[in-house]
Amino acid sequence: MSKPKGAAAPERLAGVKGMNDMLPGDAPHWERVEAAVDGLARAYGYRQIRTPILEFTRLFTRGIGEVTDIVEHEMYSFRDGLNGEELSLRPEGTASVVRAIIEHNLLYDGPKRLWYMGPMFRHEKPQLGRQRQFHQFGVEALGFAGPDIDAEVILMGQRLWEELELDQARLELNSIGQPEERLAHRQALVAYFEAHRERLDEDARRRLNTNPLRILDTKNPAMQDLADGAPRLLDYLGADSKAHFEGLQRLLRDCGVPFTVNPRLVRGLDYYNRTVFEWISPGLGSQGTICGGGRYDPLIESMGGKGAPACGFAIGLERVIALMRAKQMESALPACDVYVVHQGESAQRLALRVAEGLRSAGLDVILHCSVDGQPASLKSQMKKADASGAPYAVILGEEEVAAGEASVKALREQATSGPQQRVALDGLADYLVGQLVGESDFEE
Ligand code: ATP
Ligand code: MG
Repeated sequence: MSKPKGAAAPERLAGVKGMNDMLPGDAPHWERVEAAVDGLARAYGYRQIRTPILEFTRLFTRGIGEVTDIVEHEMYSFRDGLNGEELSLRPEGTASVVRAIIEHNLLYDGPKRLWYMGPMFRHEKPQLGRQRQFHQFGVEALGFAGPDIDAEVILMGQRLWEELELDQARLELNSIGQPEERLAHRQALVAYFEAHRERLDEDARRRLNTNPLRILDTKNPAMQDLADGAPRLLDYLGADSKAHFEGLQRLLRDCGVPFTVNPRLVRGLDYYNRTVFEWISPGLGSQGTICGGGRYDPLIESMGGKGAPACGFAIGLERVIALMRAKQMESALPACDVYVVHQGESAQRLALRVAEGLRSAGLDVILHCSVDGQPASLKSQMKKADASGAPYAVILGEEEVAAGEASVKALREQATSGPQQRVALDGLADYLVGQLVGESDFEE
């Protein structure tokens, strides 16, 4: 149908700001990270949990805290037009995991080690390492009270950086004690900031009465000195919290994990207690935190569950990928094993079945398909075969079809088979598997 004269060109739609496409060029990095995460979880005995992306808004206001950046400014919340429910896109994973373990009584038979991975949503100013849709990998160890599990989740982070060759990540650690210890510190903190009221920025003045601890977390350079001089929560810890923190440091030293204690590290979510930590990598500017975590012993009970201690972390995967990209890391996807080319109508019909047969034998196969509906020359098909990275081309022409055979051509120098072989179709899969097993990169 021809377009009527003067009709406007169709509108081209762009994606939503801050919500990015993962394009095929980045797929090797993502797949490498996903494989590493999967192996890491297995290595430490963590089981996967998947929760919905939409939850009731009040899950997050209760679970994360009313006076946090996330709940105050960053949530995508809306009223469901069909039934009036107040819903939010999840901004983080822990609240949902806790809801799920309470709802399904997952701790009935003892502690659980869980992990999750998926998209999170926060309405922030998009920049490098900060998106409105981003992805987190997180672990939650539920039901363990001692510093050994804090050490375990920290070691998991370290192992992941090693696996991904991100060797510059450094660990910062702090203890923010128990709620009653924070109360005593809070009074001292408020008195200190009151005495320096003229040096507080607008955000800090607001927080003075709601969440003064968060002033310590300020990113405003003009307030750094003031925050550095503030009373330290570490000085208000009781004997148990101190012993927990010292126990963790001892375990980390035993395992040779370097760390620095940062008395100003507080983290943005309300539910943390005792251990808090961050892994920070240079090279991402102010978005250098690639992992944040800690203990959140009070959360499960405060959400209506049977009280149980808990500890976990969340890693921002876009930041990890940005580091891999900056290091120009090679995360090449394995090429396919075989590219099938064909000439002539009967060969084309046969090619689809031959390709299926090879796949059934475990080979990864790209079948040449016509771009414009017309047959392509053998020469141009072979060019595509070369570019695919496949070590072997399977060639089907009239002659091969008549003989019930295929020609096999080795495309890479390392391929062992010499120039071109004729192989009977019924032995083709075995022949190719044999050739590929001879090369080191074939994974059955
Ligand atoms: P920041 O201080 O950078 O805003 P945060 O304290 O809000 O981080 P957490 O809620 O602890 O972050 O989330 C854990 C991790 O998730 C962060 O360390 C970071 O790597 C990642 N992350 C958080 N927000 C974003 C975002 N908007 N875009 C990309 N990654 C993010
Ligand atoms: Mg944030």
